Amino acid sequence: MTRTMPPSIHPGRIGFDIDGVVADTMEAFIRIAREEHGIAVHPEEITAFQVEDCLDMDPEVVAEIFQRLMEDPLGAGLQLMPYAGRVLREFAGHAPLTFVTARPLASPIAEWLRVMLGEEVHSRTRLIATGEHDDKTRHIRAMGLRYFIDDRAQTCLTLEEAGLHPIVFSQPWNRGRHQLPCVENWLAIRALCLPSENPDEAP
Ligand SMILES: [Mg+2]
Repeated sequence: MTRTMPPSIHPGRIGFDIDGVVADTMEAFIRIAREEHGIAVHPEEITAFQVEDCLDMDPEVVAEIFQRLMEDPLGAGLQLMPYAGRVLREFAGHAPLTFVTARPLASPIAEWLRVMLGEEVHSRTRLIATGEHDDKTRHIRAMGLRYFIDDRAQTCLTLEEAGLHPIVFSQPWNRGRHQLPCVENWLAIRALCLPSENPDEAP
């Protein structure tokens, strides 16, 4: 991290990308590549957001896996990131949750969020599917957010240029590609917003 972290953030002022932040999309991609296509991929090999740029994989197979994760995240076994469920449920006690994804389809990932977070939390959740990576800024602003967590470095740089406060969720594909504040995990996101309940839990 090369810049100082923002001060304590109210949970109602921060929004979240889904894939690579809330959802462990890399785990699902690697598992499906191995189980259904016999292709071994290691997390540290995914050094570019466009995985076909860094992996020696047939682009059609890559597209097929991402299509599946987009259309049927529950069937594909997409999981929450460690601690994401716990922290998001806690945040939901303070303010509605807001997710802005570049996915073009909202309903499959809305259903996934409902199953993963539970009906009660989901009923207080706002979800926008932009269909476009570089179109998040206006939605984030319209939702009244100032802070946004995303794993795509270019998205975060665009948000910063627009005067918002992006925080990069550290992943192999964004390391060394930005000088923005970043977080390593969901306990670190919790620490940005809420006081620690138990000092031993601090990441
Ligand atoms: Mg993402």
